[in-house]
Amino acid sequence: MPMFDYICGKCGHRFEELVISSSIRDSDIACPKCEANKSQKQLSAPAVSVGASFDPACAKPGCATPVNSGFG
Ligand SMILES: [Zn+2]
Repeated sequence: MPMFDYICGKCGHRFEELVISSSIRDSDIACPKCEANKSQKQLSAPAVSVGASFDPACAKPGCATPVNSGFG
């Protein structure tokens, strides 16, 4: 499921939106808070490994928390 992070360009509210169709534009995503169509898609940041001190937040297969969820 393609989940994208959006930030409202009007009120700054950050939310996740399930984008089913790739034809949906950012301007089609309405802010759930103020309903403005000024959402900006945030590029998902890749998981950053810092070497030996890297401690995965969730290493269990059945855990519901994705490790690469980004900004948390
Ligand atoms: Zn908003």
